[in-house]
Amino acid sequence: MSTANAGAPRGGIDLGGTKIQAVVVDSGHAVLGEARLPTPTEGGPEAVTAAMGAAITEAAHRAGIETDALAGVGVGSPGDVDSRAGTVTSARNLPGWEGEFALGAALEQALGTRTHLGNDVQVATDAEFELGAGRPYRSLLGVFWGTGVGGGIVLNGHPWTGRGAGGEIGHIVVRIGGERCGCGRRGCMEAYAGRASMERRARQAHKKGEKTDLFKIMEERGRTRLMSGVWDRALKRKDPLATRLVDEAIEALGAGVASVQNVLDVEAIVLGGGLGVRLGEPYAERIALAMQPHLFDDLHPPAMHVAALGDLGGAIGAALLARAASVRAV
Ligand SMILES: [Zn+2]
Repeated sequence: MSTANAGAPRGGIDLGGTKIQAVVVDSGHAVLGEARLPTPTEGGPEAVTAAMGAAITEAAHRAGIETDALAGVGVGSPGDVDSRAGTVTSARNLPGWEGEFALGAALEQALGTRTHLGNDVQVATDAEFELGAGRPYRSLLGVFWGTGVGGGIVLNGHPWTGRGAGGEIGHIVVRIGGERCGCGRRGCMEAYAGRASMERRARQAHKKGEKTDLFKIMEERGRTRLMSGVWDRALKRKDPLATRLVDEAIEALGAGVASVQNVLDVEAIVLGGGLGVRLGEPYAERIALAMQPHLFDDLHPPAMHVAALGDLGGAIGAALLARAASVRAV
């Protein structure tokens, strides 16, 4: 294992339910190389770890180095992350990953450098806070609108994760006794605004004969799921079902994010995630408008921005973990 060198390039891996994004950055956070691989759909944590190793190795090669020359590799992971123990438990949107898995140790062995784990949404929020749209602020809420709806919180310049499970804004209740959520409860914001829930509702409506081009567009693009690009295309074609479901998602986001704002009173909201980044500014504005009737201090709404680091934010944020650790070690 190489000794940590704070000036050496660092690696970052954003572990998602559909893709693994890896970057290698220099000490100024500039991306030297990147690679993206699909997340394995079977084979459990071992297969996922192998794909993560392949992605960061490819990113390192594009940067002209081997992984053991990296000062460290940070990982933004879903599930219950224990950064001290280097373990991830119950990463439910990953295949066969219900129990605890020593991801840190497995990656270190494969890569020959130190690894550091963090929560995926929190590292993406930290990246926006330090390097992206959140730079002018001391407090912000990251809203990651994608397969689910994740939240990251920064207060007085410091991340807030509670006892480890903080920021789960997707499971704020926006309708008591409402739609069933992926978490098993009812009426969560994610049950209306998460892309997985939106797809489930679209399939039900389509089966009942509601007119939509969503699934035609999906097939044209060679997809089996309603990815963000499919929704974007359908909205541009004014598809009635896509329009209705996205309208309902925005209404749910408005109520849910405004409720968080009423508690935290942050300076800014940064909208990221697959759908958030893809739909961009006009939809961020629509969410801000949908928040307005629910804001207690409606004269002072928070600033609303789209995530400036886009798709790479999660991986760049993960690379920040390696920096923090190597600086601490000096
Ligand atoms: Zn839920």
